[in-house]
Amino acid sequence: MSSSADVSTSGSTDRRHIATEAARRRTFAIISHPDAGKSTMTEALALHARKISEAGAIHGKAGRKSTVSDWMEMEKARGISVSSTALQFTYVPDGADPDTGGAVINLVDTPGHADFSEDTYRVLTAVDCAVMLIDAAKGLEPQTLKLFQVCRHRGIPVITIINKWDRPGRTPLELIDEIIDRIGLTPTPLYLPVGIAGDFRGLLDRRSGEYIHFTRTAGGATIAPEEYVDPESAAEREGDDWVAAVEESALLSEMGQDHDQEMFLAGQTSPMIFASAMLNFGVRQLLDALVALAPAPKGREGIDGTMREVTDPFSAVVFKVQAGMDSAHRDRLAFMRIVSGEFERGMVVNHAQTGKPFATKYAQTVFGRDRQTVDTAYPGDVVGLVNAMALAPGDTLYIDPKVQYPPIPSFAPEHFAVLRAESAGKYKQFRKAMDQLDSEGVVQVLRNDIRGDASPVLAAVGPMQFEVVTARMKTEFGVDTSIQSLPYSLARRTDADSAEELARQRGVEVFTRTDGAILALVSDKWRLQYIEKESPDLTLEPLVAAA
Ligand code: GDP
Repeated sequence: MSSSADVSTSGSTDRRHIATEAARRRTFAIISHPDAGKSTMTEALALHARKISEAGAIHGKAGRKSTVSDWMEMEKARGISVSSTALQFTYVPDGADPDTGGAVINLVDTPGHADFSEDTYRVLTAVDCAVMLIDAAKGLEPQTLKLFQVCRHRGIPVITIINKWDRPGRTPLELIDEIIDRIGLTPTPLYLPVGIAGDFRGLLDRRSGEYIHFTRTAGGATIAPEEYVDPESAAEREGDDWVAAVEESALLSEMGQDHDQEMFLAGQTSPMIFASAMLNFGVRQLLDALVALAPAPKGREGIDGTMREVTDPFSAVVFKVQAGMDSAHRDRLAFMRIVSGEFERGMVVNHAQTGKPFATKYAQTVFGRDRQTVDTAYPGDVVGLVNAMALAPGDTLYIDPKVQYPPIPSFAPEHFAVLRAESAGKYKQFRKAMDQLDSEGVVQVLRNDIRGDASPVLAAVGPMQFEVVTARMKTEFGVDTSIQSLPYSLARRTDADSAEELARQRGVEVFTRTDGAILALVSDKWRLQYIEKESPDLTLEPLVAAA
């Protein structure tokens, strides 16, 4: 087992090793609207790659009854994922030296349901790149838009995939225009489809001018064979479909829509690929784009302004806490994204928020059972820590010298409800449970003097967060609760000076959040507009995913 001393005095060989490991990693999430094909694409990506391990222990496997909890019952009943997992695999691009081990891809999963929660947003704080997956027939959909806004806010570069090109849909230029018009992101297709949506023959590689012809395989269960065809032969073979793709490509070049690495990293342009996750068309091209274009893990600045480089001693940020997975054991799993250094299972790290040591040996048990043990991990990797009772989203773990990263911003809630214990006799447990769920970041907890402590107001990004609270109150703490939604739809940050005046307004109620922020809940945007117009001096700042 390593102690903090021998890791922090790592020599230049270790630093070189860590730099190499970090440089070959790509950590990303897929952002999409439900049904756009995220699960299918995830499977397709894994098919192209050699899977190393599955971190998370979330998606229950047969015979693992002990970890099947009510929690997962809820997931199963709704066919959705409440939690996030990270899938890790290696990928060796064509022509790369396999001896180098290729690239290590970390795909951090986001819940896909419309009732998604803050967890989805938090995942985006743990990735270096996002893949925006769009259904060719539907174009931009609401959840994709919301998630894209978070990416934009955090400066995460976005690769765009137009999926389901094997089915009838819109034209490439229509889809491109929609993205430019609605979100101001300029797609720079790397490949254009040959054949209209519903007649997917292959891709024009805009950079080489070559044609990549795909052959369907039964059910898309295996990698689709690809054939590289030179432009002349492509024209002979595909006729007008080839000509159309070449003309579209020329038009895009004229409009300046060729890939530009700097603009991509700055979040202004988005490399675009047309694909069919189901047929495995365009999937290898996505992996190649991730390896060639997406950023490798970088160092981060601590709250004191010092930069922690990836080669510095171990540090990581907890971005998600999953509790209640095993109701018998009150299990609590914390997912951390490694920022710097080398993680070795068993090492004792420091928890910046409490100043206490944290033993990581329990990472072994969960992963050891039917998943590969995480023995070592590097910047960009996601590791689940078991029994992480003290850890909350946004917390920092490190090996000396100390570093503490900025907290994960809380996101603008849109749903508000009062929570009460059904029986007054359970008040003590209720109070304890509320503190616990609050510290885990399951919901935001708001209080004011009028309502009192017995009926806190919960604020959430998605209403499913409320269900999680009531379910956990019952199963983990034995408290039956009732929840009643409140007629507010938005929150604004205000200050003590404005609070009194705001509290007198119709359709407004003022609260203090656990972190001390004073929030005014407002019934609707018209009410807000009215107040802003009538009382321009009042402080009413939008709550956003602060960068
Ligand atoms: P998710 O909700 O985003 O995870 O979407 P899924 O991966 O579950 O896909 C939703 C539905 O779309 C499923 O019926 C898939 O089989 C289908 N689907 C996904 N990708 C494709 C594709 O490329 N082509 C076609 N035709 N169907 C697809």
